[in-house]
Amino acid sequence: MDTTRYDVVIVGGGAAGLSAATTLGRALRSVLVIDSGTPRNGPAAGVHGYLSRDGMNPGELLSIGRSEVLSYGGTVIDGEAVSARRTPDGFEVILGDSRRFSGRRLLVTTGLTDELPPIDGLREQWGNGVVHCPYCHGWEIRGQRIGVLGTGPLSVHQTLLFRQWSPDITLFLNDTVEPTDEEWDKLAARSVRVVDGAVASVDAVGGVLTGLTLRQGSSFDVQALAVGTRMEARSELLESLGLSSQVHPSGAGRFIETDAMGATAVRGVYAAGNVSNLMAQVITAAAEGVMSGARINADLIEEETLWAVEGHFGPFSAASEAAVSKIVLGHRRHGFDDGRKAAGLGPAATVERR
Ligand SMILES: Cc1cc2nc3c(=O)[nH]c(=O)nc-3n(C[C@H](O)[C@H](O)[C@H](O)COP(=O)(O)OP(=O)(O)OC[C@H]3O[C@@H](n4cnc5c(N)ncnc54)[C@H](O)[C@@H]3O)c2cc1C
Repeated sequence: MDTTRYDVVIVGGGAAGLSAATTLGRALRSVLVIDSGTPRNGPAAGVHGYLSRDGMNPGELLSIGRSEVLSYGGTVIDGEAVSARRTPDGFEVILGDSRRFSGRRLLVTTGLTDELPPIDGLREQWGNGVVHCPYCHGWEIRGQRIGVLGTGPLSVHQTLLFRQWSPDITLFLNDTVEPTDEEWDKLAARSVRVVDGAVASVDAVGGVLTGLTLRQGSSFDVQALAVGTRMEARSELLESLGLSSQVHPSGAGRFIETDAMGATAVRGVYAAGNVSNLMAQVITAAAEGVMSGARINADLIEEETLWAVEGHFGPFSAASEAAVSKIVLGHRRHGFDDGRKAAGLGPAATVERR
């Protein structure tokens, strides 16, 4: 059993959690990262848009991140946190296998879950033929025959976005999207094809996406399919501490609200990355990890300074004891004189104030 009381326990070892841990390790803080090993971009072949790491395998990026945390004295363990509770001096995190860890502060960087539409063959293509974010995948599918699956009110916006990467775009309304007159005008003006009817399956040959089939039977060739997922913060741990997720203003999902530096509404509990910012990409999540790490360090410094002040000026501090004995005993502190008599000296000089 690990009885260490860490300065900070971080739940979630993706870009946000590992960046926070590195920042805190470099601030000489003891840090534990608990990670269940399912980062959101796990199915993707590469991380794009991360300056100096473009195209790197997501697993490799995290593995380098873990080594950096270890190099600054941090600890990283594999495991799934199932709940957390406040203790008199911080928090205790409980894992699914009953292990318990405690820390003075808690940072949750558990990311989000992309809820995929229940269409045959779609999940198998997720992160490869089926994509969601043009900034993550747009370059790789530029100029291709791209379909956009209607999933909700944001689908027209997503269609017009992907139009930037290809002139060959088809929006499948999927019995879900009903464009407004203004949206029809925009789609027509940007030469977007629109297909009516519910989508029955996403088709592939040899693992490569080939197209879509509608419920009424017709099939369409596409080389890539963009899907707007419903993004749900992985917030169970935060909910066990009394926080609840909020509906995102865009309607794209639910997130945990924090201030700009990651503080939640529960004192001592912080969140960063996709769990609190549904739109964060890897580099954004990493940056938020750095910010929240710095904020937590400042919070700990504030607490430690308060302890130091109380220790220095409190009722039983050395300074207070000295002041009291001076008042009560004068020169004869603790039964002795101030040493002048023994040294054959006269009384100490006093300054008379008029
Ligand atoms: C298919 C796909 C491709 C993408 N490609 C790109 C790209 O090219 N470039 C880009 O910038 N962004 C990309 N993204 C977005 C990217 O995945 C996120 O921006 C990034 O993962 C957010 O980092 P995070 O640290 O907040 O969360 P995550 O990376 O999801 O990390 C969260 C970690 O917390 C762990 N965890 C969750 N719950 C628990 C628990 N209870 N106990 C312990 N551990 C827990 C998880 O296992 C996971 O390791 C892509 C997303 C998808 C879906």
